[in-house]
Amino acid sequence: MSFERDNIRRMHGYAPGEQPDDADTIKLNTNENPYPPSPAIDDLLNSLRGSDLRRYPPPTAGRFRELAADRHGVPADHVIATRGGDELLRLAITTFVEPGATIAMTQPTYSLYPVLAQVQDCRILEVPLADDWSVSPDFVERACEVQAPLTLVVNPHAPSGHLLDVQSLASIASAVPGVLLVDEAYVDFIDPALNYDSLALVREFENVLILRTLSKGYSLAGLRFGYGIGQPGLVRPMLEKTRDSYNLDTISQRIAEIALADIEHASKSWEKVRAERARLGARLTDLGFDVAPSQANFLLVTVPGAGPGAEDIYEQLKSRGVLVRYFSQPRLTDKLRITVGTGAENDRLLELLGDILGR
Ligand SMILES: *Cc1c(COP(=O)(O)O)cnc(C)c1O
Repeated sequence: MSFERDNIRRMHGYAPGEQPDDADTIKLNTNENPYPPSPAIDDLLNSLRGSDLRRYPPPTAGRFRELAADRHGVPADHVIATRGGDELLRLAITTFVEPGATIAMTQPTYSLYPVLAQVQDCRILEVPLADDWSVSPDFVERACEVQAPLTLVVNPHAPSGHLLDVQSLASIASAVPGVLLVDEAYVDFIDPALNYDSLALVREFENVLILRTLSKGYSLAGLRFGYGIGQPGLVRPMLEKTRDSYNLDTISQRIAEIALADIEHASKSWEKVRAERARLGARLTDLGFDVAPSQANFLLVTVPGAGPGAEDIYEQLKSRGVLVRYFSQPRLTDKLRITVGTGAENDRLLELLGDILGR
């Protein structure tokens, strides 16, 4: 006997990337930052006492929201703090989308989106991306056709790393019928020379909600802390109604405040990742991979035609202690997504790939 709702019984849960226990594995499969977070976090952790947890935490993470608002040049009522970016996605769906309505997204996209949509018993519109992974011209038209109350765009895109410019996002925002959520999980790795600044969208459009996370840029995937930026018409219902009361514990809030304030530390890791991204991309190209241009901390590469297939290479790397991501999904079966690691980790990967390909 099953007690689940029909839509829950029919659906499959999110399949996370592998998280091996042994510390020797080189993990290039889940886009974690390879460099440690701010050392000031260690000082805080060393000073904590059990009694710090006796009281409930600040209910809406006020201090963190002030800091984030300051950083982005918006008032604090434009910011909501969430348990990872993933909680913001869930809140956006439960707050803005009726069960049965259609959520618009690209194909491929972040594989959590369809899962969360199914939990809410929603339909999903998946519009294929163009060959260069840019959003195709009919994306907006099709989102309008289904009257999508929510459109989800990852920028820089996952799993390709492709970056849409702010002008393109503005034209999507002005044309979609509902909320446009711009998932900027990887925004910190964008080349600063491109001057990408999407905050203008929040000021201009009442339907734009931006997702940020400390998981990637701030080396805190284990913390579970993210936030959303949007006008109060979007932020307030989530902050005041649909969010779990006390969604963020006392310790996470204090760590997140320290991490966000120490942007100097984090931005050094972003520079190193960008430099390694360029080096790794060039070396992979030399090995015969086709490397999609990426503004994120990963590379989507197509394996050389003649040799072993992508899944085979993934398995061989895994058996030799290096994890990358293989997606058994339309358009991705001849590709691997490789997180940019430290110089030494990338060197090991390149050495093994040279071996596997016989170069
Ligand atoms: C990592 C990621 C997120 C958010 O992850 P959290 O760890 O929950 O903050 C959101 N979208 C994409 C595309 C991601 O890769």
